[in-house]
Amino acid sequence: MSDVFRRPNNSSVTQSLNTFRNASITAGRNFFRTRLGVPPLREEEFPGVPNFSRRDFMKLCATTAALLGLGAAGIPRIADALVTAAGQRPSVVWLNFASDTGCTEALIKATYPNAAQLILEILSLDYNETIMAAAGTQAEEILAEALERGDYILIIEGAIPTKKGYGMIARREMIDIGKEFADKAKAVIAVGSCATWGGVPAGDPNPAGLKGVREALGVQAINLDLCPVNEGILVATIVDFLLTQRVPELDGHGRPKIFYGQTIHDQCERRGHFNAGRFVERFGSKEEELGYCLYKMGCKGPDTYANCSKFRYNDRVSWCIGAGAPCIGCGEPGWVDKFAGFYERLPGVKVPGLEGVAAGADKIGIAAGVATAAGIAAHAIVTAKKRRPTKEPPSEKSDVSPDT
Ligand code: SF4
Repeated sequence: MSDVFRRPNNSSVTQSLNTFRNASITAGRNFFRTRLGVPPLREEEFPGVPNFSRRDFMKLCATTAALLGLGAAGIPRIADALVTAAGQRPSVVWLNFASDTGCTEALIKATYPNAAQLILEILSLDYNETIMAAAGTQAEEILAEALERGDYILIIEGAIPTKKGYGMIARREMIDIGKEFADKAKAVIAVGSCATWGGVPAGDPNPAGLKGVREALGVQAINLDLCPVNEGILVATIVDFLLTQRVPELDGHGRPKIFYGQTIHDQCERRGHFNAGRFVERFGSKEEELGYCLYKMGCKGPDTYANCSKFRYNDRVSWCIGAGAPCIGCGEPGWVDKFAGFYERLPGVKVPGLEGVAAGADKIGIAAGVATAAGIAAHAIVTAKKRRPTKEPPSEKSDVSPDT
């Protein structure tokens, strides 16, 4: 390839992108100070961590400590591990297979914690074809060099076709590339539902025989489910690996227990409504406005293990159920087929009965409706009796109306 068409290598472009980004962040922070005539802040770099302001570095450490459940006591340990890592620049190779690159998008757009900054500044992202400037022969050369050095953290995004001829990169089968790189990695992390179980690309009829990393490559990858992966989970997993130099405790599906140990349902902010039998029956209703439980609208939270309500998305601002959408179960093996259609009610879910007895949601709905009707009737009788003064004791108030 002619040098005229060669793009600068990824590290120099990364550097210029970061310089621009950091300058923009500083400019943003100083905007109001300048308007108010206050001297602008100087972003002091954290010692040993280039291109990381002290403030951003400490924010990264504090957020990650919280995500790992280490509390404030874990911050110095994380800071030490990251400063050590920044000196060594552990190599990261990020391979994209069959996916829409949504996980890469999630990574580069996150700021709390700034996953991209961790991977670009503290680690050395040697290859990611979506965001690196190099292309063609030059990109292949960079990839070959990384393979030769070995000892990298391998991140795989996307499902892997197991049938020949369905997924090729540079005239090679994706599955062969995956096996070759997994072989020389010190850890393999499968990010997003496509890489863990096949995700959307592996949905029926799946002519390419797409599978997740564990199944296709036969390696014990750390599975970071969800579509897209939560960048906070990715950062915390990498930092945990840097801290401990070992793979975290995984569940039966290869997911770190610390992040996937409980169901969405058990950590849901609408759980109180579920327990009380208060459900949204249709979108656009008063119940939806009141933030009632979305189980009847197809929510798969009771069968989905993930901590979305804690980590949230979009800079920790919101998450699916928080935004009013039922959980579609994207963190579970077998998704999407397992939970199709998204708005169909999950079978076999029990909700606490009015007297502490498990019962189906419809039964509760009916019982709640009867209770409401009984409450209204009782209220009408009391009202009528109040109009006709009497010496009889007042009727008992119904306390089971779902709408009160
Ligand atoms: Fe939350 Fe869904 Fe469970 Fe309702 S069914 S409490 S919306 S997770």
